[in-house]
Amino acid sequence: MEGFHDDWPESQLTPPAIRLPLAWLMKWSFKLMRLWGIDVYIHYTFLLLLAFVGFRSGIHKGNWAGALGDVAFFLSLFACVLLHEYGHALAARRYGVPTRDITLLPIGGVARLERMPDNPRQELVIAIAGPLVNVVIAAGLGAGLMFTGATGLTLDQLAGASFMQSLLAINVGLILFNMLPAFPMDGGRVLRAVLAMFMDPVRATNIAATIGKIMSVGFLVAAFTTSNPILGLIAVFVWLGAGGEAAAVQARSALGDAPVARAMLTEFQVVAPTDPLSRAAELMISGSQTDFPVVAEGRVVGVLSRADLFAALARAGEFAPVEQAMKTDFVTLQAAESLEAALPVLSASGSPLAPVVAQGRVVGILTLENASEFISLQRARAANRRVPPTIAAAAPPVIR
Ligand SMILES: [Zn+2]
Repeated sequence: MEGFHDDWPESQLTPPAIRLPLAWLMKWSFKLMRLWGIDVYIHYTFLLLLAFVGFRSGIHKGNWAGALGDVAFFLSLFACVLLHEYGHALAARRYGVPTRDITLLPIGGVARLERMPDNPRQELVIAIAGPLVNVVIAAGLGAGLMFTGATGLTLDQLAGASFMQSLLAINVGLILFNMLPAFPMDGGRVLRAVLAMFMDPVRATNIAATIGKIMSVGFLVAAFTTSNPILGLIAVFVWLGAGGEAAAVQARSALGDAPVARAMLTEFQVVAPTDPLSRAAELMISGSQTDFPVVAEGRVVGVLSRADLFAALARAGEFAPVEQAMKTDFVTLQAAESLEAALPVLSASGSPLAPVVAQGRVVGILTLENASEFISLQRARAANRRVPPTIAAAAPPVIR
């Protein structure tokens, strides 16, 4: 059985294509334990697979003690997968990157790192730490087998391979499979990190992602020829993950170190908490703004979204004050803070806009729509800068 375990640093800039299946996967999980400061979750389908393994061997072999052995083996395999994930998570912790949680799925494990460090050397260490755990386990099992004298694997022994021998073989399988350069699997991350030491990180990611997509097509073909549905699922996740991460890295690089002030709307309307809802409705009709900061005595006291305005108009009528419709739990951003740090905050808040303040005064509003326009503009600018220098040099000198 293949074990797929990889880290999906869940950037808020990751396109919905990968974020939605991940959110769905995480939803159908329950918490098993908390170990070394990280919550471990188990997906419900994992239990189904466990029951399937037990019943299949029980019915197939008519030997329920043997079935118990198979279940124990399956659990040991996933203990190895879990330790592999802790390898990634604890290596990431060394570089100050927290892990949100680890989830065990039928296709393997997922460690959700808050982010992946920009330093390729650190990414390399984090990526390799997982398979390295399996190397240590395999070496331990190998040494144990040698100590007990069960060396020299003959064909006979392999057919009736012992528990420890099978576990050793499966750990070797985990190492080999995960080191395939199918980004964003471990081997693909190692490849990206090594490439990023010699070239621009966006280009390194694009190359790794392209190889990852080609490999995922290979996995899909292998899934059909060997009728292995798990390999098919892995193919889909590698494909989506490769595309998603490439897009996220491009967006991050387009953001650069731009502050919030560069992407915010500076021409905007505000409403007061005592204003009637009809005032906000008029502003919405006369302009293109659909969500408003609510300001009283120069301070932001709330946010009035389009949805809340409509709901309150239907409920309380147009003469009701804005304060009855506004949200009072909202995020404010500082004009000088980095856009890269601010966007995930805005996205996670669920609010359509965040007021931007400088020295306590509202100087702008940031919306996700605006931010994505800014990213597109930055990309267009970057493309323009990419004009080959030889052409510029070939232009006739400007005579002043
Ligand atoms: Zn891994």
